[in-house]
Amino acid sequence: MAITGSCMCGGVHYSADVDKYLAALCHCTDCQKWSGGAFTSNAVVPRTSVKVTKGTPSTYDAVGNSGKVNKHFFCPTCGSSLYTELEVMPDMTCLKAGALDNKEANMNGKVDIEFYVKDRPTYLAPVEGAKQEPMFG
Ligand SMILES: [Zn+2]
Ligand SMILES: [Zn+2]
Repeated sequence: MAITGSCMCGGVHYSADVDKYLAALCHCTDCQKWSGGAFTSNAVVPRTSVKVTKGTPSTYDAVGNSGKVNKHFFCPTCGSSLYTELEVMPDMTCLKAGALDNKEANMNGKVDIEFYVKDRPTYLAPVEGAKQEPMFG
């Protein structure tokens, strides 16, 4: 199965050839800043499964709490957040689920894990059934 994603203006498209993925929310302050929202929702897939099929994303390197680089990929035209590659997870890519096409943003209605719940806004409740991690890992 291939899931596909794209930015708001349609300048960048990508696909990931996967049968399943880890559905993860991240509440860290970098994710809040980068998305402009309360958290990011992520479909975590093997890095080798991801192909950019149209356009070329821009990148920004942020240094995480680990001291390692978190590379952020986004559309150079409309600024949509597309995916991240974390140096601490060299084999995986975190697709930002809001950019996924065909209602895949819903991630099948299921969240496996929430990271950085210590930074989660107090108006949000934990997702029932999702593993709760105070930080990352
Ligand atoms: Zn765009
Ligand atoms: Zn985060």
